[in-house]
Amino acid sequence: MIVHVDGLGADSLEKAIREGRMPFVERLMRSEGYEINRYRCGVPSTTPFAQAGILYGDNSEIPSFRWWDRKQQVLVQFGAGSTFKKVADKYFEGCEPLTKDGACIAACYPAGAADDFGIAYQDRTYAKEERSRSAAHVLIPYLANPLHLGDWVWQTFAVAARTVKDVAVAKRRGRHPASSYVATDVVEEIFIHHLTRYAVQQAMHEGYSPIYAGLYAFDETAHAFGPGDPAALRVLKHVDRSLDVIAASRGSEYEMLILSDHGQIETVPFVAAHGRHFGEVVAGLLPGFHVEEMKGDEFGVPEKEAIGSLHLTYSGGLAHMYFAARSRRFDYRGLEANHPKLATAISDLDQVALVMARDGDEDVFLKGGQEYRGARAKTLLQEYDDSDILLAQLSRLNSFASAGDLVVFGAFAGGMQVNFENQAGGHGSIGGEQLHPFVLAKKEWNVDTSEVCGAHELHPILCRLKDQLAALT
Ligand SMILES: [Zn+2]
Repeated sequence: MIVHVDGLGADSLEKAIREGRMPFVERLMRSEGYEINRYRCGVPSTTPFAQAGILYGDNSEIPSFRWWDRKQQVLVQFGAGSTFKKVADKYFEGCEPLTKDGACIAACYPAGAADDFGIAYQDRTYAKEERSRSAAHVLIPYLANPLHLGDWVWQTFAVAARTVKDVAVAKRRGRHPASSYVATDVVEEIFIHHLTRYAVQQAMHEGYSPIYAGLYAFDETAHAFGPGDPAALRVLKHVDRSLDVIAASRGSEYEMLILSDHGQIETVPFVAAHGRHFGEVVAGLLPGFHVEEMKGDEFGVPEKEAIGSLHLTYSGGLAHMYFAARSRRFDYRGLEANHPKLATAISDLDQVALVMARDGDEDVFLKGGQEYRGARAKTLLQEYDDSDILLAQLSRLNSFASAGDLVVFGAFAGGMQVNFENQAGGHGSIGGEQLHPFVLAKKEWNVDTSEVCGAHELHPILCRLKDQLAALT
């Protein structure tokens, strides 16, 4: 049984254990022989990318949390109103899913599971899928138990009250909690936590193996307040409690492994750092164009009068830019011929760390208006991670046909990353903890993640462990 704790970096996990915020995990390490194995999730450091890697061993052509599909001219996104289904047939062909014939609960993908207990990743209507029971089948028995209902009502009330207080405190400190997250997601996530917990217990009761289940409350709260904020740290206690409840209800036939998909870092929204929205800045560089932030505002010339349309898709500190009418990715040379100096002007913004483009088979990086190719690009990357590894990770993303014509990474300013989305904490880009999640596993299982430089490389390790443990029963 694998529990996915979304958005918790390895450093944050260690710190939370040290500070006594995760007593159950601490106990696993102290008396059950568990240890923290760090790994690199790769770029983009987002859930759909990392989870596809973990579950299928293949996360190619997933360039972001949301992206523009040029062939189908559709915005692909996850979460509420997921549109991945529209392009799903292009993905995972010939892969051996990790949860084949098992249960896959609250994940972005079905991953070959026989059941998802009606709970998918922020999409509670997955029940249309073939191998899914309706959410009502989980919800009704859950709510029928007065203990569960009381537990949930009490906790929701407590979380709502705390959240109101946390927002007030954060504002008084001059911070700006991301209100869209605060209003719905935090409280909702607590409820989903309870349901997921319950679904895992049901899945164990029904003997499914393996079971994979995602817990998202920490990631949601960290987006709203920042990963180091007391509100996010308090939710970690709740996560720890959920892990404890799940573990306590498992029979001796189940082993538990805990992992995360990426970390989070403190962020400052682009508009706060620059004064104008990124879309507005880009529209200024493309006269006559209509520029649309795919989950935000529109800038430039109205669509009907425009000579062309540009779509911007954001995942935290990562932005993909798509010339919307094109059916194929712009080659850097072609882009320069049509829109000279666009890439260099964006790379010259203080709020931008890097711009990435593709010239034939070659990666082109731009920073401060300068072009960097080949090994020279490594000098740009040293401050973010091991530059050889990071260059390979970026190069892989840059090889995706689904990547933007230009790929933009937010800069670090005052210890915080510039984020294209309006969040207090974010991920998706490079730098800091966002690239460094963990696998918490028993030492005796010999899980070695030290060489893992992308979540897809975790898949064979987990498949091997699954077979190894299954052979013991
Ligand atoms: Zn997230």
